[in-house]
Formats: sequence, C-alpha cells, structure tokens
Amino acid sequence: MTQPTRPHDHDHNHDHHHDHDHGSELSEAAIRVRALETVLLAKGYVNADALDLIVETYETKIGPRCGAQVVARAWVDADYKARLLANGTAAVAELSFSGRQGEHLKVVENTEGVHNMVVCTLCSCYPWPVLGLPPVWYKSAPYRSRAVLEPRAVLADFGVTLPADKTVRVWDSTAEIRYLVLPQRPAGTEGWSEAQLAELVTRDSMIGTGVPKAAQARPPDDAQAHGANT
Ligand code: FE
Repeated sequence: MTQPTRPHDHDHNHDHHHDHDHGSELSEAAIRVRALETVLLAKGYVNADALDLIVETYETKIGPRCGAQVVARAWVDADYKARLLANGTAAVAELSFSGRQGEHLKVVENTEGVHNMVVCTLCSCYPWPVLGLPPVWYKSAPYRSRAVLEPRAVLADFGVTLPADKTVRVWDSTAEIRYLVLPQRPAGTEGWSEAQLAELVTRDSMIGTGVPKAAQARPPDDAQAHGANT
C-alpha cells in the first residue's frame, strides 16, 4: 500500500469546473473565497463537507482574527515585533492569546529576501491560539507532501507568485513547535491604525500560502474620521 510518488501531477489541462455566479450579491472577498475553494476542491486539497464544518467553527470560535491583531501590532510597534520574534508564545500572551497548541510558538518574519511557509508534514500541527483550527487543506496529504517538495508550485496554486530570487523557507511544525508567519506590511499603509491594518491580514498570509491584501481605500476608523472631518 505504498503511496505512489507524485512527481509532477498537477495538471495543466484546465478541466476544473467553474461555478458561475453572474449577478450574485457575493462580496469580492466571498467571490475570491469561492474561487479558491473551487480550485482546492478540484485539486483534491479539500472535501466540501469538511470545509463547511471548519468554516462554521472559524466563524463562531477562535480564529485567525486573533493572529491578525498580533501581526498588526508588530507592524506598528517595533518593540513588540522584537519581542514577538524573540518569544512568540510570550508576545501573543500579551494580547491575551494563549492555550493549547501554542505553548511553543515561533514567529518567522517575511522580508524582501525571504518568504516563509508553514506545514506539518506528519499531521496537522498548527498554532491554535492565534489561527484557530487548521483549514482542511492544511491537513491534506497533497499539501503536506508538496509544500516541502515543491513549495513554489503550491504557492502558485494559491495564486502567489514570488520573485525568482526570493528564498522560500518551509517550516515543518512539530508537536513541540508551532509557527506563525509575520507577513510583510503592505505598501501604502503608512499611518493606518492597528485595526485598519489587521483587516489586511489574511489567515493564509500567516501560514505563508498567501500574502496580505493590498492596501486600497483606507477603511474608516473612528479616531481617523474625527480628525479628518474638520
Ligand atoms: Fe502535526
């Protein structure tokens, strides 16, 4: 029952089906999620029923918005960022995030030269206190094997293309150590509040299979609006 090796099995024949929702009321984010889900389903990363269950859990319990607050704080506070990189567990506890599967949290920073990506090749180890439960694809055999063997191909499946000269570093989680990626702060966000910045931080950007949303119109902020409306 050995598993066949999978040297280059991602197809290029575009046989995945598309769910056409012309005229729907879906938000841009929802459309993006639907598109990504379609790709992941077609490629066998996820099972639809399991995905629904996970999403429900994410919507009702602890989830990646916790990690987004950590990232946003690190973007605006250099001292906090230094503490976060030195001792992730202690630094996220400063924001009251702690608990099982986060006892030994290591935060790895994306830079101009390095992109970090997290996997658990053995099973599904994941930093629960800051990201909630892992998405189904994170636990899937294809992701776990391919993330290490061909990280750039996996990133491409997630819609992420990196410069050729950027190093991709893959961190293999263990029962002892969990990883959180500190993504790069998007350009054009100078002066944004932590809350505004946190809105740009996606779950996948903290796993390394994505990057933060690009800064577009600055979202409303009470304090900011107060100052601007003079
Ligand atoms: Fe694991």
